[in-house]
Amino acid sequence: MPIYEYQCEKCRKEFEYLVIGGSEPDTCPHCRGKRVSRLMSACGFLSKGSGGETTRASAGTSACGSCSAASCGSCGH
Ligand SMILES: [Zn+2]
Repeated sequence: MPIYEYQCEKCRKEFEYLVIGGSEPDTCPHCRGKRVSRLMSACGFLSKGSGGETTRASAGTSACGSCSAASCGSCGH
């Protein structure tokens, strides 16, 4: 099952959400704001690159640090 990262447009906090049956979060878990936007998955970004090492370095490792633990299995990485 895909886990997507979202960011609240109100408090700017990022959170992960397990999407089940295509339902997406409509409220921020931190401030309950109604405006959340999906972020580009770090793993999805990585799988497009040809050179893993270089792409990982340019994409930044902080986002994929949590991703590799939680959701890299589901994105085939
Ligand atoms: Zn919020």
